[in-house]
Amino acid sequence: MLTASTDIQYLKGVGEKRAELLRKKGIDTVGALLRFYPRAYLDWRNVTPIAECPFDENVCVRAKIVTPVKKNYIRKDMTLFKFNAEDESGLMEVTLFNQKFLADKLHEGSTYLFYGKLGGSFVMRQMPSPEIKEGGFNGIEPIYVSSGKLTSKAIENLMINALQSGITLPDILPDSIRERNKLCGFDFAVKNIHFPLAPENLERAKKRLVFEELFVLQTGLSFLKKRKRGLTGYTVNPAIFEEFKKTLPFSLTGAQERVVNECLADMSSGRPMNRLVQGDVGSGKTAVAAALCFVSAGSGFQAALMAPTEILAEQHFKTLSSITEKSGIKCALLTGSMTKKQKNEVKAALKSGDIDVAVGTHALLTDDVEFNSLGLVITDEQHRFGVEQRGRLSLKGQNPHTLVMSATPIPRTLGLIIYGDLDISIIDEYPKGRQQIDTYCVTSAYHSRVYKYIRKFLDEGRQGYIVCPLVEENEVLSAVSANEYYESLKNGEFSDYSVGLLHGKMKPKEKEAVMRSFADGEIQLLIATTVIEVGIDVPNAVIMVIENAERFGLSQLHQLRGRIGRGQYKSACILISDSTAYDTKKRLKVIKECRDGFKIADEDLKLRGPGDFLGSRQHGLPDMKIADIFADRETLHLAGREAERLLKQDPSLSEPENAALKAEITELYKRLNQN
Ligand code: ADP
Ligand code: MG
Repeated sequence: MLTASTDIQYLKGVGEKRAELLRKKGIDTVGALLRFYPRAYLDWRNVTPIAECPFDENVCVRAKIVTPVKKNYIRKDMTLFKFNAEDESGLMEVTLFNQKFLADKLHEGSTYLFYGKLGGSFVMRQMPSPEIKEGGFNGIEPIYVSSGKLTSKAIENLMINALQSGITLPDILPDSIRERNKLCGFDFAVKNIHFPLAPENLERAKKRLVFEELFVLQTGLSFLKKRKRGLTGYTVNPAIFEEFKKTLPFSLTGAQERVVNECLADMSSGRPMNRLVQGDVGSGKTAVAAALCFVSAGSGFQAALMAPTEILAEQHFKTLSSITEKSGIKCALLTGSMTKKQKNEVKAALKSGDIDVAVGTHALLTDDVEFNSLGLVITDEQHRFGVEQRGRLSLKGQNPHTLVMSATPIPRTLGLIIYGDLDISIIDEYPKGRQQIDTYCVTSAYHSRVYKYIRKFLDEGRQGYIVCPLVEENEVLSAVSANEYYESLKNGEFSDYSVGLLHGKMKPKEKEAVMRSFADGEIQLLIATTVIEVGIDVPNAVIMVIENAERFGLSQLHQLRGRIGRGQYKSACILISDSTAYDTKKRLKVIKECRDGFKIADEDLKLRGPGDFLGSRQHGLPDMKIADIFADRETLHLAGREAERLLKQDPSLSEPENAALKAEITELYKRLNQN
């Protein structure tokens, strides 16, 4: 008898090769297969008369074959089958390429269902390569994400085999929760998500599975959070913070001070801190990190600060060492491009405890980096790292305090869920005396004036960015367009200036080199794609032009703009867009008038609607199988409440009725760690 945990290899229809293909998709058990939900459905019940079918849209037609199925050889290995089919309203010509197997089963005079797109003309409608079924078929067919030899049909057949095997599927949701939320049982849900007998059944199945997925996510995250709370952590002396403040060239903002104190309260509680600091670009997160490193070193244990790029790491290192050196705290930098000898020296000193604070890139994660007493781990721009990576650094100490810092402004309610295993502190205030950024929206008719404006800044010794249009989030195409734009500007409008190019398809080393010469002032004007989003502090860069601004999300525009206005000079951001859509104008107006990342994120969510607000991947969340954190926000809250309630009743999830849930959570952790 099959169970959910039976190895996929033992399912009827799965041989070794197929098992391999399925495992690649993350399907290693029968249970995992059944949780591989269709990406879409073909509704064969919704038949349209041929004459009424719109062109170029998927339609389902029921028609009788009225000519013989003619076989034409185009080339030796290419066969074309052609026949006409008709219903009461009209006639169409159907063509099939190389589908001998299908063509052989079709008979003149019989009626079939055809699912596909109509083309051709009103005189002769044509349907190339439709899906075909017996005329009597009257169901909704699941479509799965196929990959190579593993076609949707093959997956469908495996689903049938699994469901017909008499498999018993445990229901993860306790009865009480199911009843309270009026959800169907898992058995019903899984059958109907794959083979719905009616759209209502599909809806009920979906509702239940979405709830379940979000419930597992939130129970899992809370569980993790509670478990970490049970550990013991290093204890710092918060009074050392006062010394730190004296070494600073400026005084901290109220928000910075509050956030540091929130962290210090955790760090002196006896339990490990597990906190996220969210602060808009330029809100001064580095100073918070520096304060904590300082206190930690002063309390006798080591701290590590990890950044996603070498330049950022170097910059942090400079900031930190300038603050700490007067106090006898030793800082060191560790990055991949240092020589082996340099690295070995740092490693030895980290191991012996001679170095108090390590600043670095991924290089900190390598196995031979050992610490003497690692008590604090800080990750900057955390969305650039997976959950697993920050975990790996923490493993180099014994339950060190962990802090992650992010500028990605996520609306508060969603942040609580996305970072469910973390406590959150928010820096909601900017340092005083920040430069104003004037933001303008113009059409492309203004290009030559915009270029002139840029030249004026460059002539004054300043630097600037031109951000190229996003090409449908496609990195390759974006790189091509950036490259072309770069060539034309370098040889045209800006031939007398030093122009650089930065895009996502460049090697990390090349990117670093370009960013470095920009930071050093060698490059005056940088043509870039969105890769500069997580960038560095170049206070001399004061002008930014964003082409095709309508293609960017509001939050993204805000992040981009955060690269300027960082120094003593007044800055300007010019958004170029020819879009006349009302919606675009409204969105650009928000950017023009608002500089608060959180407000912008909220507006973004409102205007764009849920769904594509941000990719889950960016935030170390597991890919959702069926739920959409944004579209299903309401369910998210319901499920969150139920998760809390359940964990109160059974904090360790050890009741037998919660065993299946616990198993599913274990699976979730596995996926989280793979991210
Ligand atoms: P982000 O939050 O984007 O990482 P940074 O930490 O890079 O911001 O800080 C941005 C700039 O503001 C830096 O040049 C930093 O020196 C400066 N800064 C930070 N805190 C203060 C403060 N309290 N007063 C004045 N300047 C500050
Ligand atoms: Mg920063």
